[in-house]
Amino acid sequence: MKKNVAYLLTIFFIVSCSDSGSTESNSENVEQKKYEWRLVTSWPKNYPGLGMAPERIADLVEEMSNGQMKITVYGAGEQVPAFGVFDAVSSGSHQMGHSGGYFWKGKVPAAQFFTSVPFGLTADEINAWVNRGGGLELWREIYEPFNIYPIPAGNTGTQMFGWFNKEINSLEDIKGLKMRIPGIGGEVLKEAGGIPVTLPGGELFTALQTGVIDATEWVGPYNDLTFGFHQAAKYYYYPGWHEPGPMLELLINIDAWNSLPRHLQVIIETATNAVNQDTLDEYLARNNQALNELIEVHGVELRKLPDDVIEEFRAISEKILDDLAKEDETISKVYDSYSKFKNDVTEYHKISEDAFVESRNK
Ligand code: CA
Repeated sequence: MKKNVAYLLTIFFIVSCSDSGSTESNSENVEQKKYEWRLVTSWPKNYPGLGMAPERIADLVEEMSNGQMKITVYGAGEQVPAFGVFDAVSSGSHQMGHSGGYFWKGKVPAAQFFTSVPFGLTADEINAWVNRGGGLELWREIYEPFNIYPIPAGNTGTQMFGWFNKEINSLEDIKGLKMRIPGIGGEVLKEAGGIPVTLPGGELFTALQTGVIDATEWVGPYNDLTFGFHQAAKYYYYPGWHEPGPMLELLINIDAWNSLPRHLQVIIETATNAVNQDTLDEYLARNNQALNELIEVHGVELRKLPDDVIEEFRAISEKILDDLAKEDETISKVYDSYSKFKNDVTEYHKISEDAFVESRNK
């Protein structure tokens, strides 16, 4: 006991000495310097779920830093276009962004694995791969040449396949179909004979209503209800094989990040990790209520994609992912890590969550 007290006193003494080693004015600067940052997003301002994630990060950072850091959040188009977020953060015109990695597939094809790929990881699984399975290190490595530091910043959970005005009974019904569907999901649709389009969320309702597109995916009942897609399409298809658990991203300009004192970096990481989980919880809590409203109040017809159609989409997806990995060294590296994690976690889930949920739901 005495030995322990002596040990603690020694530690206290060393810490006290090293504290007095830093100059008072430096530590005062670190404590007092105010930081006012701008954060641009790909979502409409204050949009439920997706758009509120960066607002919550900003609120938490301001509160946790006792007002030392203030982040102003801008909706899509307020300062930069929805799909201009990556470039704005990369160039440093804005210190922060909130978006989804698959929007940058033309620039950073491997980024898609850190949002969602068809028949890929669910929300819990991608959290585990990114945070504990080596994904985050790879993600930071591939964004580093763009001067961007990414942090996982929200997840919608498994999405819906989307809104259609005709029934999908076979792949024949996909032929010539113009559908908003981003990322590798879009490439799968193309291979199946469809015409994929990438549009920001805020433009989807008008595009669907005026016939610019025939069908659209967006997120799930909670978000789709707010956009009113039920007023422009009759059938609501599931499952969202193309986006089983898309992860959102907080993008930070690396020079801006490096200019921060360590305690503010820790606050940003901690606040963003909290919001990453909170956003997923919000979707899970709201989606089922919204689905009931869509069906019971708005008369939406819920449809499951036929099993053979899902199977065909799966076969196309596997081929596209294999081909991408052959063409691109970075994708190959990310795909190896992702696939290995997916295979292992799938085997484990078969005897844990999957087995339990199957027995519970009988
Ligand atoms: Ca989506």
